[in-house]
Amino acid sequence: MTFLTPRVATSAPPRLPAYARRMTTTVPALAAPTPGAPFERTTVVRRDLGTHDVLIDIAYAGICHSDIHQAREEWGKGIFPMVPGHEITGTVAAVGPEVTHHLVGDRVGVGCFVDSCRECDACLHGEEQFCEKGAVMTYNGRQYSGEETYGGYSTQIVVDERYVLHIPDGLGLDVAAPLLCAGITTYSPLRRWGPGSTSTSPSSAWADWATSRSRSRTRWAPRSRCSATPSPSRRTASASAPTTTSRPPTRPSSRTSARAST
Ligand SMILES: [Zn+2]
Ligand SMILES: [Zn+2]
Repeated sequence: MTFLTPRVATSAPPRLPAYARRMTTTVPALAAPTPGAPFERTTVVRRDLGTHDVLIDIAYAGICHSDIHQAREEWGKGIFPMVPGHEITGTVAAVGPEVTHHLVGDRVGVGCFVDSCRECDACLHGEEQFCEKGAVMTYNGRQYSGEETYGGYSTQIVVDERYVLHIPDGLGLDVAAPLLCAGITTYSPLRRWGPGSTSTSPSSAWADWATSRSRSRTRWAPRSRCSATPSPSRRTASASAPTTTSRPPTRPSSRTSARAST
């Protein structure tokens, strides 16, 4: 399958003007109100479109075991009410005025994170999951502005175009959704290290995130063995590298013992 790689920005992320931050949309969602509690129907607020934002009508959201871990607060203190969902597929319903990667009607997906600093070495090398400032997770996270993030157990989401992936026409949105975490978690180490290697085991961006909450982050180092991630993507890009789960060689070996938590 092919994905559109998030474009690597070379400048600081644009910040919404004050008028845009005040314009929001309320959409239905399923939320865990407290740790371990049954899900309830509720609503969440989505920001109005910024210049590079994409509004997505969510068609599917995979249920990842990471969602269960976090809804039960098994990975440390969570943000509640919590709307999980980081295997999101759907259709672009609207785009901001300067969006270039996606058009209304495009079939798209969103994975584990929805923003990063775009300036650190990791971000500039297409390894945004290792952002030295800390990537903004799709849910149970906070935007750099401090606002909570809510995931795909909802009907719509607004995401910067750089963190929205293109889903090929031949791939159903239902089967594409779980590829955005569970699928990429297994594909990424195979792509990076190749089959037969015993030097790594699958993990996920969520697991990295969870681990990083209790340990100091090891400075990211450029990947040395895998093929290069394509340069900043164009909308017509036909191939890309996974962007969510590669494990840098400098990570402490104890981290590689973590089992997949997808
Ligand atoms: Zn960064
Ligand atoms: Zn997951």
